[in-house]
Amino acid sequence: MANIKEKRSENIEGNFYVDSSCINCGACYWVAPKTFELVSQQSAVVEQPALDDEDAAYRALLACPVNSIGVEKDSKVNKVIQELPYELEDGIFHCGYHAESSFGAASYFIKREKENFMVDSPRFVKQFANKLVELGGVEKHLLSHKDDIADTDKYWEVFNSKRYIHADDSIASTSDYEELMKGEDAFQIDDEIVVIPVPGHTKGSVCYLYQNKYLFTGDHLAFSKDLNHLYAFKTACWYDFDIQIQSMKKLLAYDFEYVLPGHGRPIKMSKEEMKASLIKCIEWMEN
Ligand code: SF4
Repeated sequence: MANIKEKRSENIEGNFYVDSSCINCGACYWVAPKTFELVSQQSAVVEQPALDDEDAAYRALLACPVNSIGVEKDSKVNKVIQELPYELEDGIFHCGYHAESSFGAASYFIKREKENFMVDSPRFVKQFANKLVELGGVEKHLLSHKDDIADTDKYWEVFNSKRYIHADDSIASTSDYEELMKGEDAFQIDDEIVVIPVPGHTKGSVCYLYQNKYLFTGDHLAFSKDLNHLYAFKTACWYDFDIQIQSMKKLLAYDFEYVLPGHGRPIKMSKEEMKASLIKCIEWMEN
């Protein structure tokens, strides 16, 4: 729980506040953009949520990986806990409960008629795992790269999922994962999901394209509000940025309408707009 004694002076007065333990992971900025913003290198409440925005502010509170967001009174947090995972659209859910070990990266749950997927991992919360059990559990756990494993293994103890990670990103703790993917060629897991290896951010980064519509990108690709187009984390590239540019070009061969990144808000556009934005991203990377 956030500490009221450590409340940042940059917060606007009211029920919600951010304390000084914020690590500036950015999760609250996109989960509740009207309420939280970056102010002097950490998050602060810049506008207390109106009734319509209150649930999003509570989702941000729950997403915060280091419990830096608090409320002074009238907590409706238990109601919002019941509503997680949060459905973005058509069986695609944002898990919430971001983990500090992945620097607050987002994870997603895909509810399907047959096998359900989880993409990357939230921190382990027993109550949340029970909610996923109610939704049918997790058969396949798809990891975008080694930095966003978080509490995958604790969820595996509940679901016994088949865990996917690229062999080039496999570390000691993932060597016994059920599927160590190899090579740079794309392949299908089933008729709805394609694995696209995208080395660059890390050597073993992959994107997952679901239903030719939803692209789960880990830390390979995100959307920049400032640039107003898709972009890559140039200052947080741990393997090779030139190789990441080549991987970005591979994505031009695919149609998708939704980018769901590890960091930053999920972004939806038409397929044509998405392709144009991807081309701008590549030009920006090359320059
Ligand atoms: S989610 Fe928490 S740690 Fe991340 S920016 Fe917001 S307050 Fe800071």
